Amino acid sequence: MAIERTLSIIKPDATERNLTGKINAMFEETGLRIIAQRRIRLSREQAESFYEVHNERSFFNELVDYMISGPIVAQVLEGSDAVAAHRKIMGATNPAQADVGTVRKEFALNVQENSVHGSDSAENAAKEISFFFSDADIVG
Ligand code: ATP
Ligand code: MG
Repeated sequence: MAIERTLSIIKPDATERNLTGKINAMFEETGLRIIAQRRIRLSREQAESFYEVHNERSFFNELVDYMISGPIVAQVLEGSDAVAAHRKIMGATNPAQADVGTVRKEFALNVQENSVHGSDSAENAAKEISFFFSDADIVG
């Protein structure tokens, strides 16, 4: 399996509840390495741009309001098959459907406040990583 990189976000509901370390421990235990990290508060414009693919969805405005409601931690994770490995440990979008042992089963509050984001393809990972990080910020 190829070594890949993916973009991870610890969302406002999780930073608010002081869960950054517990969530990152779960990622690290699966073999993913955190090779870049930034704690930031997104502006509305940044959040709208990051979630542009969802701008036709009914929940778009609510999603943007939520993502700017508190700090997030944006990270680059690296590892074998990292995009899929990260999404597996994150669990299903709706925590009611997430498998036992996943981040969302353990910590997510509901389908919106679901604690984490992960890129859904290698192509989107490259775009999302460059949204937050320059090459010099990433130390593999
Ligand atoms: P993410 O992109 O955050 O990793 P995902 O790929 O599992 O999550 P998407 O379908 O891309 O889910 O939705 C992006 C985000 O929008 C979700 O993580 C969640 O915060 C929010 N969201 C998704 N579906 C709903 C919904 N039905 N109602 C409210 N918010 C939603
Ligand atoms: Mg998604």
